[in-house]
Amino acid sequence: MKYDVAVIGSGPGGYVAAIRSAQLGMKTALIEKYPSLGGTCLNVGCIPSKALLDSSELYYNAKMRYAAHGIRVQGLDIDWPQMQRRKEKVIADTVAGIRFLMNKNGVDVLEGIGSFVKAGILAITRPDGGQERIEAAHTIIASGSKPASLPLITQGGDRIITSTDALALKKIPDRMIVIGGGAIGLELGSVYARLGTKVDVIEFMDSLIPTMDRTMGKELQRSLQKIGMTFYLSHRVQSVAEHGSEVEVVAENKAGERVKFAGDVCLVAVGRRPFTENLAPEKAGVALNERGFLEVNERLETRQPGVFAIGDVIGGAMLAHKAEEEGMFAAEVIAGQKPHINYRAIPVVVYTWPEVAGAGYTEEELKRDGRAYKTGVYSYKPLGRARAANESEGVVKVLADRATDELLGVHMFGARVADMIAEAVVALEFHASAEDIGRIVHAHPTFTEAFREACLMASDNRAIHA
Ligand code: FAD
Ligand code: NAD
Repeated sequence: MKYDVAVIGSGPGGYVAAIRSAQLGMKTALIEKYPSLGGTCLNVGCIPSKALLDSSELYYNAKMRYAAHGIRVQGLDIDWPQMQRRKEKVIADTVAGIRFLMNKNGVDVLEGIGSFVKAGILAITRPDGGQERIEAAHTIIASGSKPASLPLITQGGDRIITSTDALALKKIPDRMIVIGGGAIGLELGSVYARLGTKVDVIEFMDSLIPTMDRTMGKELQRSLQKIGMTFYLSHRVQSVAEHGSEVEVVAENKAGERVKFAGDVCLVAVGRRPFTENLAPEKAGVALNERGFLEVNERLETRQPGVFAIGDVIGGAMLAHKAEEEGMFAAEVIAGQKPHINYRAIPVVVYTWPEVAGAGYTEEELKRDGRAYKTGVYSYKPLGRARAANESEGVVKVLADRATDELLGVHMFGARVADMIAEAVVALEFHASAEDIGRIVHAHPTFTEAFREACLMASDNRAIHA
């Protein structure tokens, strides 16, 4: 078969690239080694983790927070197999949706492992071992990523687990050690903490979610401590080993002391690595950098003309919506269009409760760049809506250029900020000033009023409810 575009990998990068290519009139194939489409995000990432976050949050609220609303709950219990079944159904329904979209857009889905024979020729090894070859004028590599491990972990056992394992544990553990205080460690750690697990998080840096604005890490830490999670920052892990029915982690703290942790399981959540196994990129003249990511230029094209790469496998923010955007971008470049991605305006969200969201520059980045800026900070406490919802834990921080008032970064911690950050992204895209947002009517009573008030604060120190 001959295709205009062959996409390798059906994650959010790949399936979106396939749809956009088909929309633009190109004959498109999508190659995926698993029968289930959707990649990491749908099968073992965004979607199952959010399903468990939502279920565990409902349980936690019923147990700890309903009483304040005057709701008594008796006989509250966790049906873990049902929680898992619901998660599986959410995955299955979402995956089925991708299959539907492929059919609707006339994309040929080829099941098997795709590898380059040379640029323009791909071999697909089917699950039954059979092989077929296709020709493709253009290829988009979207082969994604896998969990990274630590070089000091040499032992493989049931108790040293990845995020994939943590989404499907047979039982709720009594004690969980989490290595890494990033998105996965905190989202999945908080799932289990809400369900009653004692969760210890060991983080190498001196802050949680260290790539986000520092204020957010501090707020989140304080909040997660309240649900019983314990944090060990500035701790360097030295060993991780299974001893019978336990896993033991030894770490060194800032003072150089050895600290021992014992758990039923240890979730290693220290980032993800690019995945290019079996792809044979070298046969197509595609280069990898020293960290194993595929190298691309500003057109997302590899060294080999006609071969593009997108999503986690090229590095940058390892986020589903970044991969999706790059999928559309690559398809449009192939079709001769001139698309654009504003990487500064890609929102980052952590789906703990309260949530954390940010877009644009962090305060640390502005300081590092020597940029003159001003801040506006507004807490959820005075918000009527927050009080009504019993969700007064929250803060919105805006960073604006000191001279022009242009918004440079927006960082939020609190209920519903995962959705609220969208307004900040629009503002950044349109180069809005803090005053612009301050002059826009925001519905009352909503959490969004906090963003407006923070902008009023930044533009002229004139928040109304402060
Ligand atoms: P992937 O989704 O990894 O897909 C790659 C696909 O390519 C896979 O299906 C793989 O089987 C296939 N493949 C690889 N090689 C071949 C080959 N040679 N032949 C055929 N097929 C191949 N991001 C967010 O934005 N929001 C979240 O809430 C979020 N939550 C997450 C939670 C967890 C627990 C994890 C692990 C990740 C989460 N992420 C989240 C990150 C997100 O899942 C990734 O950024 C995203 O899936 C990357 O998309 P991708 O298309 O680049 O690659
Ligand atoms: P991460 O990069 O977000 O966090 C890893 C954390 O581990 C960092 O804080 C890092 O300092 C720490 N760390 C690294 N080595 C360590 C060590 N030896 N000891 C202690 N701590 C160590 O990675 P992740 O949480 O594994 O997530 C992987 C990817 O998936 C990320 O790119 C993330 O953006 C993405 N993801 C996104 C979401 C979301 O958007 N909500 C959710 C889950 C995952």
